[in-house]
Amino acid sequence: MAKEQIPYKIYLSENEIPTSWYNLRADMKNKPAPLLNPGTLQPMTAKELEGVFCEELVKQELDNDTRFVDIPKEICDFYKMYRPSPTVRAYCLEKELGTPAHIYYKFEGNNTSGSHKLNSAIAQAYYAKKQGLKGVTTETGAGQWGTALSMSCAYFKLDCRVYMVKISYEQKPGRKEVMRTYGASIVPSPSNTTEVGKRILQAFPNTNGSLGCAISEAVEYATTHEGYRYVLGSVLNQVLLHQSIIGLEAKAALDKYGVKPDIIIGCAGGGSNLGGLIAPFMGEKLRGENDYRIIAVEPASCPSFTRGKFAYDFCDTGYVCPLAKMYTLGSQFMPSPNHAGGLRFHGMSSILSQLYHDGYMEATSVEQTKVFEAAELFARTEGILPAPESSHAIRVALDEALKCKETGEEKTILFGLTGTGYFDLKAYEQFNNGTMTDYIPTDKDIEEALSKLPKV
Ligand SMILES: *Cc1c(COP(=O)(O)O)cnc(C)c1O
Repeated sequence: MAKEQIPYKIYLSENEIPTSWYNLRADMKNKPAPLLNPGTLQPMTAKELEGVFCEELVKQELDNDTRFVDIPKEICDFYKMYRPSPTVRAYCLEKELGTPAHIYYKFEGNNTSGSHKLNSAIAQAYYAKKQGLKGVTTETGAGQWGTALSMSCAYFKLDCRVYMVKISYEQKPGRKEVMRTYGASIVPSPSNTTEVGKRILQAFPNTNGSLGCAISEAVEYATTHEGYRYVLGSVLNQVLLHQSIIGLEAKAALDKYGVKPDIIIGCAGGGSNLGGLIAPFMGEKLRGENDYRIIAVEPASCPSFTRGKFAYDFCDTGYVCPLAKMYTLGSQFMPSPNHAGGLRFHGMSSILSQLYHDGYMEATSVEQTKVFEAAELFARTEGILPAPESSHAIRVALDEALKCKETGEEKTILFGLTGTGYFDLKAYEQFNNGTMTDYIPTDKDIEEALSKLPKV
């Protein structure tokens, strides 16, 4: 179809929102490795997992075979409040770059939480409510997940307890107030409300906290309080399942105009937006129906795919969670506090790790200042102030589009614009003042953290 005929924004109508999630695992020959019980090193059984997670979510976590999972009507109804999200043709950016490439992005920042995390938060809150629970606990780093979960718990009238990484709690008071407005209780982590928090505080009294530590605290609280379960906003198979709504919508929108992306790009923290965006495309690739180049982008300061190891590791710092087989920098790896955005988790989704290991996707890492240069150009041309996390994907989309300018190739690029950056203005301030620095861990830093991997 001719270029002019594709609109700036491809919207689906409300009744074109997908009514089932797509489970990519059904099409994987090598399934992601199971979670292991850290005590026995045997695969976690449903029964064991149900002590931590909601029953229905455990089923989804363990289900490697069901290709499509119906989205319950209550969740579909909530999705209609902010979905479908637009698939946007970045005409202004293309013009600015002078590239023959066609650039599209799927924008997930059009809701109060400001990111794609709401897609899974609402699902997890729904299943907790359906099970008759009192509430859920979780951790939050940058704050998007905590916000999304607070909104979802308010909707279903569930108690919501959020362990917030201490440095974010102090640096992002705005986020905290949004969550409190939705009724959540926020605890800076590490805290003395849990045994593991007390232990970490004793060992590292001046710690800024980390996601891994906040996870340990949230899990401990949930497993020691009647009527509570723990929920997680990334990494897990169930989260990638819920996030498949991103890719299903994007594909439906592009299919309407006969557009097939050559390159699909997403930022990767724990892997949920990327896993969701690529799901239907990767499904075609796995079934041999179509080929796509798929690129995961991670920060140079926390390079799980590009410098980590594919091994069983803990998901948390306090060693209370099951072991997951994934690309990891080691659960004791502490990402530099000068790194602005999220994407600071030491591990990666087991699904994406397996796909990367099997050669179905690529990964690259980018430095912080280069990311913000891309964010600035994007804001000035496309008008959206992007989240720092999302800007990792923008960076690589720009680089690929500039390569096309050199070669004259008219490639089609699709990337995930996961959220907006209104709560990241401290980082923008550093960038604008020219005081932002790039931190790259040394080989020794990484070796040291990897040497503490559990022996499995
Ligand atoms: C949480 C977050 C990410 C990274 O998480 P994934 O699970 O890797 O998707 C990316 N962008 C935004 C805006 C986020 O809030």
